[in-house]
Order: sequence, then structure tokens, then C-alpha cells
Amino acid sequence: MRVEMIAHALDWVYPPRCGLCGRIGEPPACPECVADMHSNGSPAAPVPLVDRCWVRFDYTARAAQAVRRLKFDRVTSLGPVLGQFLLAEVRGVLGDFDAVVPVPIHAMRWIERGFNQAESLTKGWPCRVDLSVLRRIKRTRPQVGLSQAERLSNLQGAFSARNVKGSRILLVDDVITSGATMTACADALRKAGARVVSAAALCGEKLGD
Ligand SMILES: [Zn+2]
Repeated sequence: MRVEMIAHALDWVYPPRCGLCGRIGEPPACPECVADMHSNGSPAAPVPLVDRCWVRFDYTARAAQAVRRLKFDRVTSLGPVLGQFLLAEVRGVLGDFDAVVPVPIHAMRWIERGFNQAESLTKGWPCRVDLSVLRRIKRTRPQVGLSQAERLSNLQGAFSARNVKGSRILLVDDVITSGATMTACADALRKAGARVVSAAALCGEKLGD
């Protein structure tokens, strides 16, 4: 009872707010902001080495803001909430995979950020999320402004996978832009024996546009 009273008092002093529009009431994201995230549908162009690709939202407006709030402002409570939207997109096919693998960030990046946003999306998913499959072993420069060929070359040797012979893997990431990161991950996984590699991203730009 005492704890509840303290919680009520804190709510009065610091009322809970939507993490996106700042309105008082519904953290981490209010229904209006969620309604303002636009469905993407599948990417227009296939991603090399990736069997299928699901994308939940266009990387615009509220969805892009949500990713930035999660990743750069470290509003980690947004991760599992946003992840549920992605889960709704892939729930029907989860059983087709042996493991869900969040796209890893480099250890130095993890130290800077304190968490991996891709991993935070998969918190609470009713399946095997395996963080031991894939590692990011090379710290790469930012991909922004690079051509597709430069992106692929930048990511050459960036990922290393343990033996996953015959496995079906679903990669998960927050954003898919050119698809180069997913291709680099899929390359490492296929070299480690993966039979199927598909990908799911919370946000995506329309590939091939
Ligand atoms: Zn809001």
C-alpha cells in the first residue's frame, strides 16, 4: 500500500508522458502516435542472400522518431513495445525458424549505448532469441552517404557466425535502409551453414526506389 502511495505521489509530481509527442498520460507511446506510424509492406527490391524480408513501418514520421528515441535518446522502454508491432508482422511464420537473431552491434558501440536496440525489440517474443549466433567483429564507419557498393565493402568481414549448419534463421533489426547490413549478416550465416536466412525490420525505406 505504501509503495502504491509513493507511486501515485510520483505520478502527480512527474506525470507519465508519451515518449514521442510528450502528451501526459500514456507512456511509452500514446495511441495517436502509434496510429501515426505508417505500414510499409514488404520492400520493393529483394535483399541479396536474404530469402524473405518483412518490414513493419515506413521509416518516416512517428516511426522514425520512435527509432531515434529508442536508439539515440535511450528510451529503452520503447524497445519491447515497438517489438510487439514487429512480432505481429512475423508471428505467423515464427515457427518456420529455429532461432531469431537480433543484428548485433559492435562491443564498443554496446559500451557507448548500453544496449542493442535490435535485441530490445525481441524482448518477450515467444520463441528462441539466440544472441550467441552472430557477432559484430569489426567496427565500421557510418553507412550514410555511401553507395551500395561502398556499403557492402564497408561491411566486408564485419560479422562472424558460429556453426549453424542446417538452421533457419530470422534476423531482426530496427531499420533496414539499403539492405547491406542484412546481406552482410546473411553472408556470415550462410558461410556458417544456415539453410534459410530471412529478415524482419521495424522500419524500412522502400528498397529499390
Ligand atoms: Zn504520443
